[in-house]
Amino acid sequence: MKKSHLPHRTKFPRAVQELTRLAAGLAASGSHIEDTFWENQLEVKINTQLRTGNDQNLEAALELLYDTDQAGYGEFIYAIEAAIECGTLIHEDRTYDVLMFAAPVLTWSRFSIPSGPIPIAILNNLREQFQTHVLLKNVQFSLADYLFSPDQLPRGYRLTYELAGKLWAAAAGGQDLHMNPRQFAETGRFLSDTRYLLGAIAVPQGEPMFRWQETNGTGRVNNGISSVKSSKQEISLSWKTQCGEALRSLFQGCALELLLPDGFFSAWRMADRLARPYSMHATVDFLQSTLNIPTSGLRAVVAPFHDQLLEEYRVSFTPLDRNDVLYGIVWALVGEEDENSDTVTQIETTLQECNIANITLLDNHFPLEYCEECGAPLFPNPEGEIVHAEFPEEGEKILVHLH
Ligand SMILES: [Zn+2]
Repeated sequence: MKKSHLPHRTKFPRAVQELTRLAAGLAASGSHIEDTFWENQLEVKINTQLRTGNDQNLEAALELLYDTDQAGYGEFIYAIEAAIECGTLIHEDRTYDVLMFAAPVLTWSRFSIPSGPIPIAILNNLREQFQTHVLLKNVQFSLADYLFSPDQLPRGYRLTYELAGKLWAAAAGGQDLHMNPRQFAETGRFLSDTRYLLGAIAVPQGEPMFRWQETNGTGRVNNGISSVKSSKQEISLSWKTQCGEALRSLFQGCALELLLPDGFFSAWRMADRLARPYSMHATVDFLQSTLNIPTSGLRAVVAPFHDQLLEEYRVSFTPLDRNDVLYGIVWALVGEEDENSDTVTQIETTLQECNIANITLLDNHFPLEYCEECGAPLFPNPEGEIVHAEFPEEGEKILVHLH
């Protein structure tokens, strides 16, 4: 039979096909040794994409896997994140394992939450806290001299990889990393928000980095599991108090909650998850103290908001006897959460912790709508309409738009 001379057309570039093939191979592998085979090849291909500066192929491969191979999709995300935050680096003839880390700070304030350059005295104090509480002795590390708001974190895989590379090199050289403040956009103002300290750790290949990787002081390892967990808890506690103290002067007029520093992506996801109940507590505190309403005088309205799929819940607060929305917060889905996750129960539990007993649950399919003027999300009122939150201006009884 005569073969067609039409050129063979594929929908996806070769690089995308190769990435998806390797991720699918890794997901289907049945042994550690086969895992390693796939992982090594996948790492090389992902690194090529990151170096040549193309998020497009990585994103196309993610989309393709999302539609065809859920397990492969999970492996691929994990591999991309690993390739971005960890690596090996040769510095002055020594080979180092390097890791970009983040230390998230949950915070809220009736005034403003700081972001931007970190003064040198505070940076030095932070270095001491990292060294004393989190890192093993003699571990080299770098800190960026900048307090990042979420919208100042690098956007996309390649830019994150670029920043990781700078932090890794600084860590191996035992330096901090200076960030030019002019490269960052001004950050939005919110009642409650997250800030990030970023840095990197460099250790001789194969050596541990964090204190919780060490056996306890006596060198004995008894009851291994509880020993690592309790060690991590203790470290987290001393980190919260001691580093919180070091940040106090930077965060004047703000409440703070520090999360344990960890690999960049893992810390970021943890912060996204914990920022939701944190901001709910902050909002209820704020409403009570500013409007002088006890929690028994407040009602919460909870409703799901969809784009194509469920994206987030929006929670409104109204006076008990009225339908005006005073204030609203967004509870976004994080990581693998979807419409099957028990998000409503989490929201209800958090509201109950805040002593809000009057909760209205709506099951309307609201579209993700925003105010055309200021871009603020619109929130559900108890009658099932979506409206602009209107907070009473100080000293006035009239309710106004906060534009
Ligand atoms: Zn508006």
